[in-house]
Amino acid sequence: MKIQKIKGTKDILPNETETFLEAEKTLRKTMAKYGYREMRTPIFEQTELFIKGTGETTDIVNKEMYSFTDKGGRNLSLRPEGTPSIIRAYLENNLHKKRIFQKLFYYGRMYRQESPQSGRLREFRQFGIEAIGSLSPQIDAETIILGLEILNNIGLRKVETQISSVGCDKCRPFYKESLKNFLESKLNLLCDDCKRRFEVNILRVLDCKRETCRQVLKNAPTSENQLCNECKDHFSKVLDLLQKSNVHFTLNPYLVRGLDYYTKTVYEFISPVLGAQDAVGGGGRYDKMVELFGGPQIPAIGFACGMERILLAVEKEGKAKIQKQHFDFYIVTMDEKTDEKGFLLLNELRKKGFVCEKDYLERSLKAQMKDSDRLGAEFVIIIGSEELGNNEVTLRRMTDGSQKRVKLSIDAIVEEIRNNYQEQHKN
Ligand SMILES: [Zn+2]
Ligand SMILES: [Zn+2]
Repeated sequence: MKIQKIKGTKDILPNETETFLEAEKTLRKTMAKYGYREMRTPIFEQTELFIKGTGETTDIVNKEMYSFTDKGGRNLSLRPEGTPSIIRAYLENNLHKKRIFQKLFYYGRMYRQESPQSGRLREFRQFGIEAIGSLSPQIDAETIILGLEILNNIGLRKVETQISSVGCDKCRPFYKESLKNFLESKLNLLCDDCKRRFEVNILRVLDCKRETCRQVLKNAPTSENQLCNECKDHFSKVLDLLQKSNVHFTLNPYLVRGLDYYTKTVYEFISPVLGAQDAVGGGGRYDKMVELFGGPQIPAIGFACGMERILLAVEKEGKAKIQKQHFDFYIVTMDEKTDEKGFLLLNELRKKGFVCEKDYLERSLKAQMKDSDRLGAEFVIIIGSEELGNNEVTLRRMTDGSQKRVKLSIDAIVEEIRNNYQEQHKN
């Protein structure tokens, strides 16, 4: 039997890899503009890190982590998300002592054993930011502005931003209490997951995607009415800054996000073309995590976005750029002698910075021309025995079929292109 890839994983073929590379280039450029610097952390960590950081009661930690015991008996997990690792590394490397305010970003593979029908991959790529050290509502607004700019620059045209506030340690207990009172009599109408959530972390019931649960939640109390003055003030400042920055957003009082660590502002970026699984990313404040990991009282905010989901949405919007291979030259040869000449010329052209290719299968002239076409070569250099006898090559431009004999020397070829094709050729 042939060995096949693991369920929920995906092979990324060359054309698609180039689409990823293009998006990653855009990502890094936009991050730099806003002052974020990249941090790379290990793909596996102690399981404890995610239990503590992501949260014991989350679906991610409960059901979706790839955890294993290594040969030294350590409990390890493949990272299901980026934030806990960044905060661990931030503290472990004493970044807070170097500069009190840090802007960090990450990009890499994450692992979650999600149910396959949701169409989500079990190995996926995520990028995210963490702005650590500021309580200012400006930084809340700025992360949203940055997130939207990245999504736009990657090619997503229609993104909806939903925003809410989940309150803080002081006011959230009141909200949980009112939600509990509301749901208590309707418990038998909720799904099994929600019955469990009701006991361990009631806010997560609001996250349920099941239609039956959504019906029950229709008239549930909202967090907005329960916010303390500090949270209320912070939230209204964030909204005001977004409005003044011309950022369109929708208030969604039931937005809680799938993680336990959020405080105050939470938000989601939604692509309408993706259907039910419509979020391409989201984030919020997590003012308690640094402290939870044994650090000083330092607030933080961040977001994470799924690269595969963004690229899927770009494709669905019909705006995806098809990546095509490009070659400046393809060298066509006729026999053993001209073929060696062709190989040496190929290497010289590459040294000059040209992208070029030749045939390695001793194929016919016709097959080589066809291959050059397939590779999108701009020019073909033909070395036949007649050409070689005169120490020449035939230079043929593929777009219009025009061709010319040129001396067999790299300088002559480059000069010919400079003189006659310069406006079309970037070299
Ligand atoms: Zn509060
Ligand atoms: Zn449910």
